[in-house]
Amino acid sequence: MIVIKMGGSLGINYEAVCNDLASILKTGLQIILVHGGSSETNLVSARLGKPPRMVTSVSGYESRYTDRETLEIFEMVYCGKINKGIVEKLQRRGINAVGLSGVDGRIWEGIRKSAITIVEDGKKKVLRDDFTGRVEKVNLDLIELLLEHGYTPVLTPPAISYQGEAINVDGDRAAAILASALKVEKLVILSNVPGLLKDVTNESSLVEDIPIREMDNYVKYAKGRMKKKILGAAEAIRQGVKEVIFADGRIDKPISGALIGKGTIIH
Ligand code: ADP
Repeated sequence: MIVIKMGGSLGINYEAVCNDLASILKTGLQIILVHGGSSETNLVSARLGKPPRMVTSVSGYESRYTDRETLEIFEMVYCGKINKGIVEKLQRRGINAVGLSGVDGRIWEGIRKSAITIVEDGKKKVLRDDFTGRVEKVNLDLIELLLEHGYTPVLTPPAISYQGEAINVDGDRAAAILASALKVEKLVILSNVPGLLKDVTNESSLVEDIPIREMDNYVKYAKGRMKKKILGAAEAIRQGVKEVIFADGRIDKPISGALIGKGTIIH
């Protein structure tokens, strides 16, 4: 069994991912697909007159400020348009996919950060009414039930807080904790870059191999959202996943390529 995380940035080739996924599933390997939806959410929220507000926490991580209205738009796009779009593409290829969010069956459970401290224009600010959080626990019952009956789960944020509120969580870290809980050997993270680059503007500066003990030497290359992805990967390895592969989701056969070592392998 493997876990695949498909990013939500512009450029990801959904058709290629679904084609590849369908041919791998036919070999008998079980796959759980996790996806994001950030760029589409930005588009839709701008069209609805509520442009995204990205905030940077005091520790330097960027996230989407998610008030109740943003959460609703987030769900419309992630759980609606993107999730059902992927399920449809897989169904068309003969895969019996089922799309769920982390709220369904409490698959991804965690804490809601009721107040976050951000830095804006050099000043610290506290934001309340924010529905973001962090997955701490995976409830596998529903996933196992689906897998046992031959369904392919397609999962997306939000997650659910211990109090039962939907929370916006980082999809990479959610995929990482899921991979650990399922004790899979491999987690493949597809995005719109070939992997971790030493220089973001130069695609041939790919880092091909990162042994976990040397992680500290590589984190410095990751900027913006890539930082969270790398830390999520390190977490997954420490919790028992053998390999996390960052690979290019824009190309043909992106998953098969990743499984034979195309990309950045963290182990
Ligand atoms: P997704 O939506 O696929 O989860 P993100 O957009 O969150 O992906 O993260 C991938 C982005 O991270 C790339 O498009 C790239 O601009 C950025 N990035 C920052 N630093 C690096 C780096 N060192 N190597 C590769 N990508 C990086």
